[in-house]
Amino acid sequence: SPWRWGLLPLSPVLPERGGRLFFSTSCARCSKNRRLRQKRVISERKLTRYFVDHRKVRVVGGQGGGGGHSFYSEPRKIFGGPDGGNGGDGGNVILKADQQVKSLSSVLPFYQGFHGERGGRKNCYGANGACLYVKVPVGTLVKEDGKVVADLTQHGEEYVAAYGGAGGKGNRFFLSNENRAPTFFTPGEPGQERVLHLELKTTAHAGLVGFPNVGKSSLLRAISRARPAVAAYPFTTLNPHVGIVQYQDYEQVAVADIPGLIKGAHQNRGLGMSFLRHIERCRFLLYVVDLSVPQPWIQLEDLKYELEQYQKGLSERPCVVIGNKIDLAESRINLPLLKEQIGDRVIALSALKGDNLEELFLHLRELYDTYVKTEQSRGQSPVKW
Ligand code: GDP
Repeated sequence: SPWRWGLLPLSPVLPERGGRLFFSTSCARCSKNRRLRQKRVISERKLTRYFVDHRKVRVVGGQGGGGGHSFYSEPRKIFGGPDGGNGGDGGNVILKADQQVKSLSSVLPFYQGFHGERGGRKNCYGANGACLYVKVPVGTLVKEDGKVVADLTQHGEEYVAAYGGAGGKGNRFFLSNENRAPTFFTPGEPGQERVLHLELKTTAHAGLVGFPNVGKSSLLRAISRARPAVAAYPFTTLNPHVGIVQYQDYEQVAVADIPGLIKGAHQNRGLGMSFLRHIERCRFLLYVVDLSVPQPWIQLEDLKYELEQYQKGLSERPCVVIGNKIDLAESRINLPLLKEQIGDRVIALSALKGDNLEELFLHLRELYDTYVKTEQSRGQSPVKW
């Protein structure tokens, strides 16, 4: 056989075996690895864990560079005088709001600014330390000792979290008529050190407010591409999810699913107030009630009470009531009763079956347009996603 004599075939295709052509691969294990690997599918539960809405960060500004210490000297100028330059300033640590960042998960627990360089000979100044930018999502609240020190609500907004230390002075700086050969210089100052608490308040346009199991996550899935977990037990969704509703004229309305609201949430029951803060920034609210439960208007009253207890005036934001689960028989009986009780418009729909979602889309757009108009009339730019 040609194999025995070390003759390799020119083509990598080996002779036909069992009616199939085999390509030459060195061993079975390699051929296995050569197949294109698919990305591992992450379960929804794991995905939601990446959303982080608060972080404690220690920030330290860069240390200033020390002053230089040297004397100039050359053959015909032996006592050329002091020529140690000043050190460079340490770099600041700056928090910068970025639209691309959606959670605080990429923020590390500790940041150290860049140090300034030492002053050199021949009056060379040390370079300043560069600024260290930490990207945070738009809507980040910076707190120190419980007090709000910054609120980054616009894309590109910056906050200096820690100033770098000033650079030291070189011995040239101390040259005077009294002292023609100063030998002293100062070291650089240490950077500012602070411990900050970052808190994220989602800045969606609309917030889905409702008790557990009314179908908020199902609704967000139905109207957008967001994929919050759906199951028939309370607290399935553990993080606020933001879904984007896209309209044909390329306008986008961000809708947030705010989980964990139960009776007594303002007293920190259940998941408590940790999620109520996400409602604060929503421009309008979508109250979701389960129509299949008897007396659904009680849900609405309780929801408004919880919001009002958390922050005064929160329940008076522009809103619309959504009656979910209209596909169930009990809901059809409860719907007219609910309308009668609240005397307001109720958008009855089924998130599961997708019934009557168009009415919600249209009303959402109306609310969004009014929001944009009022912001523009005030001379402010509306939040866009
Ligand atoms: P959430 O806790 O408010 O986010 O509620 P989920 O979206 O997790 O839904 C809770 C349960 O209600 C799930 O078992 C859903 O299948 C069910 N559900 C949601 N929407 C509808 C609906 O329109 N009709 C019916 N029949 N069931 C629904």
